[in-house]
Amino acid sequence: MFAVEQTVENVKSYSIDGLKARLTELGLPAYRAAQILQWIYLHHAQSFSEMTNIAKKDREQLAALFSLPSLSERAVERSVDGTRKFLFGLEDGHCIESVLIPDENRLTLCISSQVGCQQACRFCLTGAGGFVRNLQAWEIADQVLSVSRMLRLENEHPITNIVLMGMGEPLANFDEVVKALRVMTAEHGLGISPRRITLSTDGLVPGIDALARSGLRVNLAVSLNASTDEIRDRIMPVNRRYPLRELLATCRRYPLEPRKRITFEYVLLRGVNDSAEDARRVAALLRGIRCKVNLIPFNPFPGSAFERPEEPSIRRFQQILLDHHITAPLRESRGRDISAACGQLRERQQPAVAATGRE
Ligand code: SAH
Repeated sequence: MFAVEQTVENVKSYSIDGLKARLTELGLPAYRAAQILQWIYLHHAQSFSEMTNIAKKDREQLAALFSLPSLSERAVERSVDGTRKFLFGLEDGHCIESVLIPDENRLTLCISSQVGCQQACRFCLTGAGGFVRNLQAWEIADQVLSVSRMLRLENEHPITNIVLMGMGEPLANFDEVVKALRVMTAEHGLGISPRRITLSTDGLVPGIDALARSGLRVNLAVSLNASTDEIRDRIMPVNRRYPLRELLATCRRYPLEPRKRITFEYVLLRGVNDSAEDARRVAALLRGIRCKVNLIPFNPFPGSAFERPEEPSIRRFQQILLDHHITAPLRESRGRDISAACGQLRERQQPAVAATGRE
């Protein structure tokens, strides 16, 4: 019946153009592609049978040719500060977490790009758990789709911003992350403006350059976390491959839209990177880069070797950056009571474990 071999393919792995071409190959009308993707990303359909403007016979044919998988929602936890953490199950039994953070007039969803992480930053619980696998593009984008669907069902305000700051190093899973970003920003996708999306990296220099070349104009955040190579080598192994000089040179050439800035994240670790000298060195390193620095006091987890600095040294650090005309907001991590804060995400296999809040 068909010219091409029949295998069940995930329809969520297609862009509009890709799907048009594939449908044509299969002897189906190309205009169905837009209909299908609208059902998925606009109307949140989870099966072909819901696509009621397509003839029943055609829907059945599509369902035989394509799969339409969704992440399975395993658990939701709510913090006293309104932050919600979602535990999603993947088809192979692994789990990932996404965190929804309400803040004045924003609703930001923090999503994961990998199961676990290879980067082994010493202050991060995800790194301590090791690396399991890369997420596929649809598994990355589906975190946004699933949460959007839940919010709509509950008549809540939609997500306004996306940050790739959950589990994993997004630029270590470059191709799938870029594909996911295309789905998130596409008209026949989730239709989110790239200005409302921020990708955070620990500093994989070739990945930052490739992201610039991709033409996706998402915001860039870089986890700086140290003022010298000596300190950064110790707490972030990536620095041994791409030291500060190279990292900052890449940041200097990153194409910024007018009025946009690079965000540098700086996790404050007591006695490690929080001195007045560190602050002055950070200001010097960032000279000439349009940027701001988000200061994040360390969020502890059992077994971690670090501590959060005392309030006065946090304030002193911030003041020195401000004195150098660097915007430096203090980011109190949200959702600490449900282990949803920066550096506290890790793979939780069973919802029962997640619900006990043992970590
Ligand atoms: N791999 C990416 C994104 C995930 S980490 C990256 O490195 O940027 C997101 C942010 O959380 C990073 O800025 C990281 O420095 C910060 N972070 C990690 N562990 C933390 C902890 N225990 N306390 C506070 N911030 C932490």
